[in-house]
Amino acid sequence: MDWLQQKLQALRKTEGYVVPAVNGSSPGLREALAPLKLDANENHFVSRDWLEQLASEAAREVDPRFYSIAEIEELKQALAEHFSIPPQRIVLGCGADQLIDFLVSTFLRSGAKAAALTPSYSFYRIRAGLHGGTMLEIPLADRFEFPTAAALQRAQDAHIFFLCSPNNPAGNQFKREAVLDLVEKFHGLVIVDEAYADFAPYQLVKDVHDDRSLIVLRTLSKTFGLAGLRIGYLVAPAPMAEVFIEKVQYPYPLSQFVVRLATKVVRSADTIRSAVDAMRNERDRLGRELRQIAGVTVFPSDANFILFRWAGDAKRHHLQLQDQGICLKYIGSIQGEPGFLRTTVGTSPMNDRLLDALSRSTVEA
Ligand code: PMP
Repeated sequence: MDWLQQKLQALRKTEGYVVPAVNGSSPGLREALAPLKLDANENHFVSRDWLEQLASEAAREVDPRFYSIAEIEELKQALAEHFSIPPQRIVLGCGADQLIDFLVSTFLRSGAKAAALTPSYSFYRIRAGLHGGTMLEIPLADRFEFPTAAALQRAQDAHIFFLCSPNNPAGNQFKREAVLDLVEKFHGLVIVDEAYADFAPYQLVKDVHDDRSLIVLRTLSKTFGLAGLRIGYLVAPAPMAEVFIEKVQYPYPLSQFVVRLATKVVRSADTIRSAVDAMRNERDRLGRELRQIAGVTVFPSDANFILFRWAGDAKRHHLQLQDQGICLKYIGSIQGEPGFLRTTVGTSPMNDRLLDALSRSTVEA
């Protein structure tokens, strides 16, 4: 079966998304290795006890013998009310990642081009590559700002434009006018990834209209603290959402239990708002204190993580921190400059430990 070997060989050569080993380890090992898990922008501000209580309620309420149908409609309704948007525009998926994959496999013909800014979330490029498309990567302007003139010009023959708002890993959100201008002028489909937008000054879920080629991508992993449940959604023009649900998404895409639990969390707007406010306060403090550490350059963040540059050997530092049980995301070089690391904003005691370890590393370096 030559074709199978050839396909496997080609797949081996494509770029994959690397999840650090610690993420995949058992809970006990995870705690032993990385009590400070600050590498994946998870939400440390939503209380685990509270979620456990809601999870027991959800477990009692569902009947796993049946597929989730009504539960899915209920979650869409809860999200629609939360954001004051029509439920007909919402498509649920197994994490925003699954929806990125579906968007690419559905709308990017093999051999066609997509565009994204760089640096940005690598999964757009990875999935475009997997499905036989190519990614035009357009470098950000100075200070990770939106490259106003270059964006449209460089993306001329792209069919899809991915834009991450706020951007991962830089953390900043581009000016609203620049993004809306791109949406108006780009001739193809614009996908604005708002995984972190609830932590930022503005969001575009209400700017999606039935006659506009704009899709906004969202997740419950960040704001709602539910990364482990794997629920994402997109807000699309209603006719597009309808086709997507009927023809692209699986008939029963999510588990009844996770959907029921997620609905309870989405309906707890006050608790979630307090968690977002607490994260924002800690983000400001962490940014301020990181700036005091010699050799650290901090970049402004509108998300729940902070990008910083380490003047010394960042790779070595990253491993040293890991040995102390502090797990950050090693970013490496950005536009030719080395030394970038990204940390999730943890709770105050977590950030204190991180700051302490970083200050000591500087002295020892
Ligand atoms: N978009 C961005 C910008 C992200 O950082 C992430 C999480 N790594 C995702 C999408 C995927 O989120 P989910 O957990 O919903 O798959």
